[in-house]
Amino acid sequence: MTLHQQPHRRYLQEALNLARQASDAGSSPVGAVLVGADGEILYRGRNRVGEAQSAEHVGDASVSHAEMDIFFQAGKLEDPQTLTLYTSLEPCLMCGGAAALLQVGRVVWATDDAWGGSGRLIAWADHPAMKETEVIACPDADLEREGAVLFAPEAKRAFPDEGWALWRGRYPEETAGVK
Ligand SMILES: [Zn+2]
Repeated sequence: MTLHQQPHRRYLQEALNLARQASDAGSSPVGAVLVGADGEILYRGRNRVGEAQSAEHVGDASVSHAEMDIFFQAGKLEDPQTLTLYTSLEPCLMCGGAAALLQVGRVVWATDDAWGGSGRLIAWADHPAMKETEVIACPDADLEREGAVLFAPEAKRAFPDEGWALWRGRYPEETAGVK
């Protein structure tokens, strides 16, 4: 089976489960998994910005994003081009940049982040050192909606007005009920 034929759904569902765990723990609802070429989930990560730093996990910092949680757990990646990073939400510039710098072959996310996402950049077409990352945005419509509903309250709480306006424009139905 080629990498392109990997089923995305179960990995995005796991990323969404981790996003819910993050929310339950007082952090931002974003989760991620790093998947090997054979389809095995190698690492699970979630946002930990609202939690204490520990020996196992980066925490208590605004850089404690789900993808960074994975990268700090994983350390040096073997054959990174064969790996796929699945996230519940389009990675920010830090995490998309880290994935590209580490030469992760593929990044797939459930839901766009119209304000903070870096998907429009991490294909890195104009950057000579960072052009190997394949980007697959929102391959599953049901999970895209689920991720938008899950993150929308955080988008309203944490983003400036113009960021929230972009979210409302991108996901009008999913943001409609957010108070
Ligand atoms: Zn990030």
